[in-house]
This record gives sequence, C-alpha cells and structure tokens, in this order.
Amino acid sequence: MLHTCDNPGLLPISEAISAILLQLECPNTQEKVTLVSARGRVLAKDIVSKIQVPPADNSAMDGYAMRCEDLAISNNLQLMGTALAGQPFTGTVAEGQCVRIMTGAIIPTGANSVVMQENTQADGNTITFKQIPDEDNSVRKAGEDIQLGQVVVAKDTKLTAAHLALIASIGVAEVDVTTKLTVGLIATGDELTPAGQDLAPGAIYESNRYALQALLEDYPVKVIDYGIVKDDKTSLRKVFFQADQDCDLVLSCGGVSVGDADYVKDILQELGEINFWKVAIKPGKPFAFGKLKQAWFCGLPGNPVSSYVTFEQLVTPLIEKLTGQQTSSPHYFIAKAAETIRKRPGRADYQRGIFYRDETGELWVKPNGKQGSGIMSSIANANCYMMLPQESANINQGEPVKIEPF
Ligand code: AMP
Ligand code: MG
Repeated sequence: MLHTCDNPGLLPISEAISAILLQLECPNTQEKVTLVSARGRVLAKDIVSKIQVPPADNSAMDGYAMRCEDLAISNNLQLMGTALAGQPFTGTVAEGQCVRIMTGAIIPTGANSVVMQENTQADGNTITFKQIPDEDNSVRKAGEDIQLGQVVVAKDTKLTAAHLALIASIGVAEVDVTTKLTVGLIATGDELTPAGQDLAPGAIYESNRYALQALLEDYPVKVIDYGIVKDDKTSLRKVFFQADQDCDLVLSCGGVSVGDADYVKDILQELGEINFWKVAIKPGKPFAFGKLKQAWFCGLPGNPVSSYVTFEQLVTPLIEKLTGQQTSSPHYFIAKAAETIRKRPGRADYQRGIFYRDETGELWVKPNGKQGSGIMSSIANANCYMMLPQESANINQGEPVKIEPF
C-alpha cells in the first residue's frame, strides 16, 4: 500500500517559510564598520561612487604612447620621455613624438593610443612602430569600470571579498551595515553530555550546538551559547527567560516533538506565542516558531540530522530577513539517480547524497548510506542534498534528481 501522507496535518515547507517571513519585520538598526571588518555583513545603504574608476585614461600595456594619426605619415617617432604608473609624463606629445609608457600610467596629454613594446623597436631616441594602431589601442578609458554616481554595491547585499575590493577601489573605507543579530543557542535534554566528559549510562554526547554554531558563522550574528539545559521546568524557564532578554533570536534543539519528559513546550507557551508545527520535511517534521516576550524563537528537533536540515531550510531564510539580506536561493543541478532512491510521498525529503561525473561527463547521484535522522555521518561524508519533492515516491535508476551541493 502507498502512503500518500504521513500525516494529513503536515505543513509544506514553502508554506512554513512564508508563514515565518510574513511575521518578521526587517531590521532598521545599522552601524558603521571599517571595510576590513565588513566581510559577511549586510549593506544597509547603497554604495555610490564619488569617483570614476579608472580615474583617468591609462595604459593597459608596457609600450609607447603616441598620436595614432602620426603613424600614417611615418613609422618612426621621436622619444620624448617616460610615463610611469604614479609618475605621469608632464609634457605634451606633439606631432612626430612618442613617450615610453608603463602599464597603469596615465596617457600623456596629446597622445591617443598605445602600442605594446613587443611591436616596436628602439634605436636611440628613434622608435620604429611595427603596428599601426587605431585610437585608444591598449588604453583603459577613464570610468570604464565605474562611473561617477554609479551604485557599485546595492543595499541588502551580503559583502564578499570581491565586494570589499570593489568598495575599496572607489576610496570608501567605512560602510553602513545592518547590526548583527544576537542569536542564543540552547540544547535541551537530560541525556546530553558535553564533549570531553565521561559518558554515564544512558547518556549521549551533545553535538547539535557545534553544528549550529558553525553554520551560524556564515551569517552576521553574535552567538550566545546557553549550553545544555536539563529537562526540568525550573531550569528551562530560567534559561529561556534569560535568552529572551539577551537575544534577538533564540534557537533551541530538542523537546519540540511529542516526547514525554520534554517540558520545552510548556515553558514556551508560558513565555510567548509559539506555533508547534509538523512540517512536511524529512528529516525534520517537528518545528516550533514564534515570538517569546521580545525575541523570535525557533525550536528545532533534537535529532542531529533533523536539527541541521531544519536550520538550513527553515532558519536561514529567517536569519537572512532579520539581518536585512536579500534572500538567496541555493544553487542546484539535475543529476541522474545512479540507483533506486527510496522515498514515500508526503514529505519533502533532503536525503544526503554523493554526486559525481562519469567519464562521459554525465552527472550522477546516489544516496550516502543510511538516511536516519540520527545518522550524522550521512551528512558529514556526503557532498550534496538530493532534494526529493513532497509528493514524489521512489525514484528509479536513471531518473532525474535535483541536487544541492554542500
Ligand atoms: P528530542 O527532540 O528532544 O525528543 O530528541 C530527539 C533525539 O535527538 C533524541 O535521541 C535525543 O537524545 C537527540 N538529541 C536531542 N538534542 C540533541 C543534541 N543537542 N545533540 C545530540 N543529540 C540530541
Ligand atoms: Mg529531548
């Protein structure tokens, strides 16, 4: 028998994301930071150029600058001096004259073209040209990269290394960016033990915070780690209350499913307006979202793979919006299934896969071993998600699969 849906009350991922984004307000606080500390920050204002780049016509080659029309009369021109990058030739190039010029040096007054050194021959102060160039040959024109008044990087952009170079190239040393989001991390569960300690019977090592903290490094956030909290009401109430006061966004993992000894739900109900969803995502499903007294809140499932995947799929759009970033859609490719991929209709499945190209260049993908929500090695040793749509059943060998490389 085919299961059409694990549970008819499941919320499709796209609807969960829309419901989250609809509630959030964009940030309106910003600060100035120096360019060196701006990588990964989100621009709060357009960067408009007050100069043109390059600032003046300059040479793209080491060679000789001249008036190209003179070469129609004679191949031999008289050498008058040198133009270096940062040390312009101060005279004027007149008829029958040329100037030795280096890459980046300003084109001397009077000259209108450059011939590269390899196409010339020098005999004392007489330069013979073996190439008759057009105007502007090997000339980089003023403003050809950036014009005066041009928006070089738009508001809402998350700044990369290339953006920083571009901004520096117009002489801007400080930028206005959105303020960092303060994100609190809470792991809940009596069984959880910090790495580095001895493991008591029945206990397991806590691992989700390590993944979440590392994933958060890609965003303009400041993380406050509240550690591991026991499943008792007093401790949970205390830590959630504190995190709500300290943070813009609180992320917890564990205790949002129908577990018995999990008091997370009760405390959250006391503190704010939280929705407990069953999202049509696998791994994942239980997911809580809402507002505490002042901070936004996401409750991730405790299973390591579930918390990882729900963070990437549901929490990152929220962080992007709260930090004022343009929402990004991940890159994906279509590969062929190298073997049958097992899947039941009902939930969108983010199976962990390994993609590769065969000798003909064809892209293939296969599941990376066991896909259970507790099997972290399925992510660690994989190189992509195989994104299997909610309604899809088994995928046969050779059928197309959407993959999202890590
Ligand atoms: P829960 O969502 O609290 O019912 O937890 C589901 C499963 O995930 C249980 O097997 C927990 O032991 C495990 N788990 C919960 N939180 C963590 C964590 N922070 N690190 C590793 N495993 C966890
Ligand atoms: Mg638990």
